[in-house]
Amino acid sequence: MPEQVTAVLLSQGDELTCGQTLDTNSSRLAAWLWGMGVTVRRIITAPDHRDDLTAIIDAAAGLADVVIGTGGLGPTRDDLTAEAAAAASGVDLALRPDALAQVQSRFDAMGRSMADTNRKQAILPVGCTVLENPNGTAPGFAINHRDCRLYFLPGPPHEMGPMFEALVAPDILARHHLTPPILVRIGVVMSESVLEKKLQGLDIPGLDTGALSVGFRASLTGNEVKLRLDPGVPAPVREALVSEIIDRLGSAVVGVGEIDSAAALGSRLAARGETLAVAESCTGGALAARLVALPGASRYFLEGATLYANAAKVRVCGVSPTDLEAHGAVSEVVARALAEGIRRTAGADWGIGITGITGPGGERPGKPVGTVHIAIAGPDGVTHRHRVHYGDRVRVIQRTVTATLMLALQRVRSASASPDSVESAPGQP
Ligand code: ATP
Repeated sequence: MPEQVTAVLLSQGDELTCGQTLDTNSSRLAAWLWGMGVTVRRIITAPDHRDDLTAIIDAAAGLADVVIGTGGLGPTRDDLTAEAAAAASGVDLALRPDALAQVQSRFDAMGRSMADTNRKQAILPVGCTVLENPNGTAPGFAINHRDCRLYFLPGPPHEMGPMFEALVAPDILARHHLTPPILVRIGVVMSESVLEKKLQGLDIPGLDTGALSVGFRASLTGNEVKLRLDPGVPAPVREALVSEIIDRLGSAVVGVGEIDSAAALGSRLAARGETLAVAESCTGGALAARLVALPGASRYFLEGATLYANAAKVRVCGVSPTDLEAHGAVSEVVARALAEGIRRTAGADWGIGITGITGPGGERPGKPVGTVHIAIAGPDGVTHRHRVHYGDRVRVIQRTVTATLMLALQRVRSASASPDSVESAPGQP
């Protein structure tokens, strides 16, 4: 029988409680534990105060099977984790030669001599297990107290992350009979409120509602539906659930297991051996930047032009001055001309044109701030969308980029002789 394993996360440091550093460690750890099937009961943030820390560590050990603390393992006086953990578990501190050797070897690797203060990082609770830190000087450690296993890791995210994955997660799995839940991630470009409405009342034959939890993760680059299913849910029931969700969300779905619409578009283009060029006005290169941030973008991305002034639109994409005069730069006609123009001049299979008003000023009658026109020119013609995005300048730009990527993805997917039909999930648009 799988066990119910619980955890408490403890982030410590004055820089967290003063608001100087955002506690990203807890959210990463919570996501990892969630994926392993461990239930997080508390996330606590505490300042560098020995008595508080001692009491919190003791209470946390009484509350859960696993405690993971991050921070406070450094060489300075305000790094109190080892002292507090020893006090909470009623043991002394002692210099650990194996930990000292690790600290020393980090300094040797950096070609620096070790200060005397760094010896403090090797003074740990008696009887603890030392956890090697391959990316920094502070070793971690683990102790047992009140039937709980407590792990203490350094605060820097690039140090604690690899240590959790290499040392802590395997230890938790070895000590408990966990059966990880099944996770399904579905990328979608749709607001969270609409998403929630669309997914209400999911009733799949054979699926016990207690066996499913549905979460959302919102970001400016696109949202994500996260399904966590009990491992006992049979595969056909799982598949029925996923295809019901895809049906309900329709063409807003990026993909099952595909969250980033830019990556989804790039992989479709690469698979088809097709190329893309973009002409951006109001997004100023943000679309091109999203695309070239992806490894392997050179397989399909030919060029991006930032055409802010009307003269640039005319010169590079051959936009008609008469159209600019008659319809204005923020118009369907101009977006279409940008898409067709860049496609032609770059010799690409696909061309994208974007023009709009990002604000805060610049609105015109019938064209409020946030108005954008997006056009996708492809082998089978031009598609256009008119949108009004809300938010400040940065948000309008990001929302426009996301909307454009989604529109391009839909266009490329629906283009004839699509090799990507093979890789699409059932029912996917
Ligand atoms: P080291 O001695 O290697 O720096 P440490 O365990 O002493 O490790 P801290 O001094 O507590 O770690 O934190 C070091 C840095 O790590 C902080 O200045 C901060 O930038 C980052 N950090 C600490 N805790 C967190 C956290 N919970 N989330 C994100 N970053 C954190």
